Parts: sequence; structure tokens; C-alpha cells
Amino acid sequence: MREQFANIIIDISHESVDRLFQYRIPEGLRESIQVGQQVYIPFGRGNSIRTGYVVELTDEAEYDEHKLKEIAGVVPGSVSVQSQLICLAWWMKERYGSTMNQALKTVLPVKKQVKEIPRRTIRLLADERTLKEAAEQAGRRGYKLQLRILEALKANSVIPFEAASAQLGATTASLKPLVQKGLLVLEEKQQYRNPLQAVEKGAEKQRVALNEQQRRAADEIWEDYLSGSRKTWLIHGITGSGKTEVYMELISRVLELGRQVIVLIPEISLTWQTVMRFYGRFGDRVSVLNSRMSQGERYDQYERARKGEIDIIIGPRSALFAPFAHLGMIIIDEEHENAYQSELSPRYHAREAAACRAKLCGASLILGSATPSLESYARALKGEYGLCTLNIRAKADSSLSKIEVVDLRRELTQGNRSIFSRRLKELMEERLQAKEQIMLFINRRGYANFVSCRSCGEALRCPHCDVTLTYHKNGRLMCHYCGYQVLVPKVCPSCGSPYIAPFGTGTQKIEELTREMFPAARVLRMDLDTTSKKEGHQEILSAFARGEADILIGTQMIVKGHDFPRVTLVGALAADLSLYAPDYRCGEQTFDLLVQAAGRAGRGERPGVALIQTYQPDHYAIRAAAAQDYEEFYRQEMGYRRLMEYPPAAGLLTLQLSGKDEKILEREAAALGAYLRENCRLIGPVNAPVYKVNDIYRKFLYIKGENYDILIQIRKRAEQFLKERETARSLSVQYDLT
Ligand code: ADP
Ligand code: ZN
Ligand code: ZN
Repeated sequence: MREQFANIIIDISHESVDRLFQYRIPEGLRESIQVGQQVYIPFGRGNSIRTGYVVELTDEAEYDEHKLKEIAGVVPGSVSVQSQLICLAWWMKERYGSTMNQALKTVLPVKKQVKEIPRRTIRLLADERTLKEAAEQAGRRGYKLQLRILEALKANSVIPFEAASAQLGATTASLKPLVQKGLLVLEEKQQYRNPLQAVEKGAEKQRVALNEQQRRAADEIWEDYLSGSRKTWLIHGITGSGKTEVYMELISRVLELGRQVIVLIPEISLTWQTVMRFYGRFGDRVSVLNSRMSQGERYDQYERARKGEIDIIIGPRSALFAPFAHLGMIIIDEEHENAYQSELSPRYHAREAAACRAKLCGASLILGSATPSLESYARALKGEYGLCTLNIRAKADSSLSKIEVVDLRRELTQGNRSIFSRRLKELMEERLQAKEQIMLFINRRGYANFVSCRSCGEALRCPHCDVTLTYHKNGRLMCHYCGYQVLVPKVCPSCGSPYIAPFGTGTQKIEELTREMFPAARVLRMDLDTTSKKEGHQEILSAFARGEADILIGTQMIVKGHDFPRVTLVGALAADLSLYAPDYRCGEQTFDLLVQAAGRAGRGERPGVALIQTYQPDHYAIRAAAAQDYEEFYRQEMGYRRLMEYPPAAGLLTLQLSGKDEKILEREAAALGAYLRENCRLIGPVNAPVYKVNDIYRKFLYIKGENYDILIQIRKRAEQFLKERETARSLSVQYDLT
């Protein structure tokens, strides 16, 4: 027997969009009705007929079931992609606690009047030699943009203009001189003869035969796909093990069935090379989204997806909402990345939202990473996800780099107070002499204001929460999970050393020191200061890739996903910096980053070294990273999470209250805390690590719970409580559920 009642959201332009209305399903419809279906329903006192979307089917009547109205009929046609996205929005609202309007704005791209631009393509006309000469000339004269375009044409003789514009910054004006010289033409679609012909040639060049591990992974996932079970798969593959090739194999099989694919890649790894790999194989059926594109351009890509002009979309988080009518697969590369968590309400995680969308439309979800998130790996071990492992590098001549750990405490006792260890200096000299490249980075995170001992390496931690205490300018240390406070001690509580101080080293300082030490070396720096320009980021990376510098210095952003074959030394200057972030995930982030960094060295033929400088060589995250041992890291980290009841061992609901009036905020937060405390384990309210921003004060409440359902109930109770209190009106509240 099928469900008797349907919970329905009234058409989305209606003001009651934030709640569901229950209707009885007439006998004749019970067999066929499904979630996502658009239906006709009598509404309001006059019973005028409106349309609505079925969001849930249930057997439980919320009110007197005899008073429920009946669904009048089903809007003809199958469940549309629009309805699926609306159901997804409902799920996001429930799961993450936003308004339905915010959720709808997230999943349905804003319509903008944009004139349709014809599809344009840049086609190379010049032969290889002329092209090379032109590139050299452009390089000599410092025409960076033109050089980038010419370099790109060396790899693919036809490139879509949109992609060149989004990724390389090409404009019609900037191409003009190259067109006038007869090096290339800018073609419009109407003039194309056989656009795929040129692309196909590129594809032949790039196609590799999968190795045995890759083939096994692809076959296993495909077998599950064809069987219809469509579970979520985790591909745990070391850097360079050929995960992308496995994705492409799966994509081509999905396309053969006439279905479409969404590929999520963190923005920072969405480089020209990555996009061209997909374009080289799938040609014009691929499109890209990124934050450098204008809103109109992005909207166009959604339109192309809706009209069936493309089958594959590659992009960051927001690509998940591409309106493909027959979505067959969602792939999330580097699934552990923080960028998949939205900072705007609804604060959804792309992995969870993707699982929901995949379920709604019968697609499968593939996650890939060299360092899977604890959440995903735990699920894979429990058998909730399928697991495939790739543990060898795919390229025959490439091997994992050697990893060395330098103990900075020993450097200090032996009289070296510099941030450059003697071993690092020695390796740098060698590399510079051999004309090989070097990357140096510090893993600094937003508010890593902690105090540590330079003799024993210990950072000052909260005795109750086991996270690092945050240093405040008034000389106090505070725990932002529980509010514990102490004055900064004069000597280290662990070893008595007086070398205890707030840690502070910036990339700029490191650049200065590097230039002093190696005056002849060419140094580039990449951090938020140098990349704030629109193309700054890409420009610095391409300059480094072309060999215009010997040393690249930066924050963690330089080690994420880029491929520089001439880099043979990667140095993590103070690997523990990120270990001190006041966040229970800092061990995981440090491990991920160090493994990624080691993956950067030795991508070409020459073997690489990754050097990890640290005050805590015995910390399990550093040890496991040095041994490239994910399983060992997982075991240790999961032990810590279980002990402290942090996710994924337990659910964590974070409530942020903020307001202009500190007194009101304090009172209301305390009242809410007291109310919730009766029914759950609550920590706080405590001040946010940055308590006051733009004259707005912020407080946190943390609630731990065994599962999400309990926490969602608690959130609803909090919402209700705040709604009923007149005095809480001036506050805003944000929820975060992990
Ligand atoms: P990952 O995504 O796991 O980092 P990639 O798919 O980018 O790995 O592969 C790393 C490199 O190895 C790429 O240059 C790719 O072309 C190459 N590669 C991948 N699979 C194979 C294979 N089966 N044979 C030869 N080279 C391969
Ligand atoms: Zn000490
Ligand atoms: Zn604490």
C-alpha cells in the first residue's frame, strides 16, 4: 500500500513558501505520484486551484485527516528538473536551517536579461614555427596575455573563446593584433564547418589506456551503475594516481547512455590544464563555471545545460545546480576541500547536497581524494559508500617524493633562530645550482593567533576542549569553544622555557629573508595581497610555470592542485602553524595540506623532496603525513574525534547569534542557552574568536548530538524560541550543522 498523504509546497512565488501544506492523495494517484511531482491543489478559503510541488510522501496525517483537502490532479509531464531542484531546496532549508527563499535562490540561478552571444572559437592558423616565434616575441616584449593565448594554442589548435576569456582573460580587443598578424582567427558558430574535427585530433593525443587499478575502479563503479543500485563511491587515490582518467572513463560511459554529468572541482584547482583535459576529450559538449565569469556568462551555461547543448559541466560548488534533465552522475574531485562548504545561508556542504540531488534523479555520486574527509572515509569503512583504492602513480616515470622532517626545536638549541633550517638552506642551494624550482609555503589559517613555546613546541590549549587557545591583544588567551580564559604565562607550562610568544611570520617576511639569503634567485610571492587583482592568481602561476622564477613563496594556496614539472623541492616552513588553529579539524587540515604539498614535488622526471619543518615532529598528523600513511592518520584522528565527540563521531550544531546591542545579545544568548540546556548537551554561549566585526557582536552556542535528526529537532526548537521572544527580534541567527 502506498502513502496516503503528500506534503506540498505551494507555487514558489507564493509568500507561504516557507511551510508545507498537507493534502490527501486520491486513490487513483497513489501508485504513480512521486516526490518532485508538480500537482494542482485547491488552496485557501475560496479553494482556487494553484500549483504546488510534492516534497514528501507520508502515512501520518498532521491534522484531522478528514479535514484534509485532496490533490486535484497532476500537472502532465514527468518530474521536471525544476521540481527536483525545488525539492533539493526544501531539503537544504530543513537540513541547514535557512529560509526557503534563500534556498531557492541558491538552487535556481537568478534570471538575468542577457543578450545571447554566439559561440565563438579561437582557431590557430600559423604553423608550429611561426607560432613559436610569435610567442617568443610576445614574451620578450612582456605581452603576457598574448603569450598565454599563444602558449595555449600550442597544446590545442582550437579553443573556445569563452574558456579562453574565463581562464586566460582573453578579450576580442586583445586578440585583434594576433588576428591582424594572421596567427589566428576568431570564428563564430555559423562559420564552423566541423567543429569537432580539430578537437578529435587533440583527443587522440591525450587518450591514455587505463592501468589495471584504474580499470578495476571504473568497472566496479560501472557495474554498480548498471545494476541500478547507484550508491556513492569514494575513490581514494594518491596524488597522480590517475583519478581524473577514471572520471573521464566513467563520464564517457554515462554520455553513451544519453545522460549528463556534473564535475565539481575546487575553484583553486580549476586551472586551464584541467579544463583542457576535459575539453580535449569531450569537445563542445563540455562547459565550465567559475567565479571570474560574469553573472550573465554563468547564467548562459545553466541555459545551455537546460537546453541540452552541453552534457558536462565543470565548476565549483554552484555547478551542482546545473539544470540537466537527465543527470546520470555527479563527480566531486578533492572531496575533502573546505571550499565545498558554503559560507552563505543555507550553509550547505556540496557533498551532502549532491547526495540528495543524485537520489532525486537516480544519478550516482563519485567522490575522489588523496586524503578523504573523515566523514567520507568513515562511511566507506562502514560500507555506506563503495571504496576504490589507487595506490600507485599512473605515469611510469613518476614516483612519490621523498619526505624529510626537520625538528625546529633542535635548530633552536643548536643556535639557529632563523625560520630556515640548515637542511632547507642546503637543499635550496642545490636546487638553485641545478636550475630546478622551489616552492616554500606557510600553512596559515584565518585567525591563527596562538601562543606557542619555541623550545618544546607546545601550544597553549584549553584544558576542557583540547583546542588551541586564541590570543587576544589584551594579553589574554581564550578558548572559543567554552570561554575559558587565562593570562599569557611568562614561561612555558610544559618545559619552563621563557621562549614563549605569539607566533607571527608572514609570507612577506619570508620573501625578504629569502632575497637576503639568495640575492641572485628570482623570487615570486603569491598570497592574498598579490592575487587581489582579477587575474593575479593565474598570472603568478603561469609565470612560475614558464620558469620566470626560481622560488615561489606563498600560503597554502600554492600547493593545491597545480602541476609544475620543474619543482623538485617543496618546503613547509612551519608545518604546525595550521595545527594550532582553534578548530577541531586542524589536524585533518594539516595532514591534507602536507600530503598535497608532497604531491607537488617531483611531478616531472626528476625526483622531488618535500621538507617539513616543525616544532612538533611527533604529532600524529605530521608523522602520518611524512609516512604518507592515510590509514594511520585516520585511525589516530578518529580516536581523537570519538574521545571528544566531534564530527563525524557525533553531530555538531553551531548556532551563531549576532547583534549590534551587546547587552541584548548577552541576555538573549543566555536565555536561549538555558532553555536548550534542559534537553541537550550544550556548550556556551561563548564569544566568537573575532567577537566584534563592524560593530556587530557575535556569540556561539555548540550542541553535540548523536545524530542529525536530533540536532535538527533542537534547531527547530531554538528557532521557535527566538521567534516567540519579542526581545530577540533585533538579533540575527545562523545555523551550521556538521
Ligand atoms: P590524479 O587526478 O589522481 O591526480 P591524473 O589523472 O591527473 O591523476 O593523472 C596524473 C598524470 O598521470 C597525468 O599526467 C595523466 O595524464 C597521467 N596518467 C593517468 N593515467 C595514466 C595511465 N593509465 N597511463 C599513463 N599515464 C597516465
Ligand atoms: Zn615549552
Ligand atoms: Zn574550552
